[in-house]
Amino acid sequence: MIQVVPILAFKDNYIWCLVNEETKHCIIVDPGEAKPVLAYLKQFNLTLDALLITHHHWDHTNGIRSILKHYTVPVFGPAKEKIVGVTHLINEGDKIELAHWPIFEILAIPGHTLGHIAYIGNYFLFCGDTLFTGGCGRLFEGTAEQMLNSLNKLSRLPDETKVFCGHEYTLANLHFAQTIEPNNLHIKERLEKTRELRQKNLPSVPSSLAEERLTNPFLRCDNPEIKTRIEKRTGRKLTTPVEIFSYLRQWKNNFK
Ligand SMILES: [Zn+2]
Repeated sequence: MIQVVPILAFKDNYIWCLVNEETKHCIIVDPGEAKPVLAYLKQFNLTLDALLITHHHWDHTNGIRSILKHYTVPVFGPAKEKIVGVTHLINEGDKIELAHWPIFEILAIPGHTLGHIAYIGNYFLFCGDTLFTGGCGRLFEGTAEQMLNSLNKLSRLPDETKVFCGHEYTLANLHFAQTIEPNNLHIKERLEKTRELRQKNLPSVPSSLAEERLTNPFLRCDNPEIKTRIEKRTGRKLTTPVEIFSYLRQWKNNFK
């Protein structure tokens, strides 16, 4: 039985810890900070097997070096990005096979950064800052087209896939989603559920991919209501999903 536990870092980052309850072995995803990770491993007497890194941003990688001072483990990271401490450079199509763990498959999901990758195993998706619960990451390095392709790729994963993203942004994302689709009852319901969780200081991550498809505007660029709404706002006729995505992303950038 594998549990995925959030380790909180900085203001709203999630470092994910996969724990095999029987063997007490674990894998850490995106250690932006070492201290809370080391404390967690010690507290629960866990043996670290590997680190998985989704992209090069400091808030996902800064803890690598200090963790390696305490544990000698493989560090998997995107081949297309330069990240200190990564020992295994991986690309789309590669598979990570670690003893006593499910196989992790790799997808290239550029857009937020150019080399960004996702790890998929056991119906868990670790997608860093590309797909967020209720939203998507900013385009720091890639184009709108790249990001939309990446999101479409993730959107094709099975319904029950659990989305483990790198930040707790769900509430703000869903407020935006509701502005885009005020008549979408799934968004309304999810917003209420998320509010309750956050009031109790509980994580709203993970979600399921089925839920994302129903409520995340960035996975719904082919929805006619979204198209009409953006056309009204921009006063332009939009023809392609990339155009719609691009305006949607810009709108979200300025959304308060
Ligand atoms: Zn990032």
